Amino acid sequence: MPGRRVVFLGPPGAGKGTQAKRVVERLGLLHLSTGDLLRDEVARKTTLGEKAKGYMDRGELVPDRLIIDMISGRIGQAKKGFLLDGFPRTVAQAEALASSTDLDAVVSIDLAREEVVRRLTSRRVCRACGAIYNLTFNLSSETARCDACGGELYQREDDRPAVIENRYDVYEKSTAPLIAFYRQRGLLHSVNGELGSDKVFAEIMRILAA
Ligand code: ADP
Ligand code: ADP
Ligand code: ZN
Repeated sequence: MPGRRVVFLGPPGAGKGTQAKRVVERLGLLHLSTGDLLRDEVARKTTLGEKAKGYMDRGELVPDRLIIDMISGRIGQAKKGFLLDGFPRTVAQAEALASSTDLDAVVSIDLAREEVVRRLTSRRVCRACGAIYNLTFNLSSETARCDACGGELYQREDDRPAVIENRYDVYEKSTAPLIAFYRQRGLLHSVNGELGSDKVFAEIMRILAA
């Protein structure tokens, strides 16, 4: 029985979203990306979106209480298992999660700062379906459209160099402590995020099948 309650940890740009899409398709899990959920709230100009936008544009974390309220109900509905992508990001969030569910595996996708900056400055995302691309390997030009749906590709507001650096600092300070948190609980598996996407995927599937 493969892992059904899974968390992806890792710095911005490590490949969490890219891998999450492949893993949930293979294993039939519910993909819960707090970043995607927040960007949807911002686009719909909800009360939560209005509160979260400033933090996101600066590359800071949205306050724990808002995030926990947004995600807990959705986790409770994931009967066939879930993959949490971008949550938890602080020890307080991890403790809130632990009080509501057990986990089967935490996969930390690791990537050094220089490579994070390289990848995020060249990331493009489909406005319509959320597919993730990169100018350096799977897009022919700045004006290319989404392979999957023909949608317009855009550069995220927070994928600008100054904000990227801040996000990496925030990761090191607030999120990296979760590596030790989950190691102590016997749940942590690390994957080298520098590898090609297929190799990273194979490694994750090996971990989740074990
Ligand atoms: P995260 O969700 O962790 O922020 P993404 O999945 O959005 O990361 O990936 C960040 C960028 O790096 C995207 O442009 C993506 O196309 C690219 N990318 C993802 N995985 C790899 C990989 N293994 N090697 C090179 N580039 C990758
Ligand atoms: P990344 O590509 O950096 O992994 P995400 O799409 O996961 O980006 O997150 C984008 C932004 O949304 C973060 O910089 C932060 O402002 C906010 N965010 C996402 N998840 C969380 C969380 N669990 N806690 C606090 N803020 C979050
Ligand atoms: Zn698309």
